[in-house]
Amino acid sequence: MTSLYQAYPQPSLSRQAIAEELQAHGLKPTGQRLRVAEILMRAPTHMTADQILAVVRQSGDRVSKATVYNTLKVLADTGLVRQIHLDPERSVYDSTRAPHHHFHDLDTGELLDIPPQDIAFSRFPELPDGMEAESVEVVIRLRRKPARG
Ligand SMILES: [Zn+2]
Repeated sequence: MTSLYQAYPQPSLSRQAIAEELQAHGLKPTGQRLRVAEILMRAPTHMTADQILAVVRQSGDRVSKATVYNTLKVLADTGLVRQIHLDPERSVYDSTRAPHHHFHDLDTGELLDIPPQDIAFSRFPELPDGMEAESVEVVIRLRRKPARG
């Protein structure tokens, strides 16, 4: 049995491999969908929808903002990427699917991965009746230490 944790970090994916992943998740790999998926899924990364849109536009592709947003929603709904809600206005899409935690740099907005084995819980709350924990994600928010002197 392979553990999920061995999938971390995951290898980079070719365009063909990404198209196959989309199909395996019941998604038709249309040109626009594939373009968005490729930017995000080629290698492990964290990007906001606006950052992905900027990359699409830089490459001269004519893809609407709505298409980028809709595609990201579909990718997240099927579990191909993970959507991380940092604050109500901003989601970051994470192409590393294996469970892991994050440092969030509040100054730059950057997310850094923390391998799952680097965090352990000595206490965990009792879950509400009839519920099970689907996932646990820790975000450690970072800010610069104030300069001394
Ligand atoms: Zn991550």
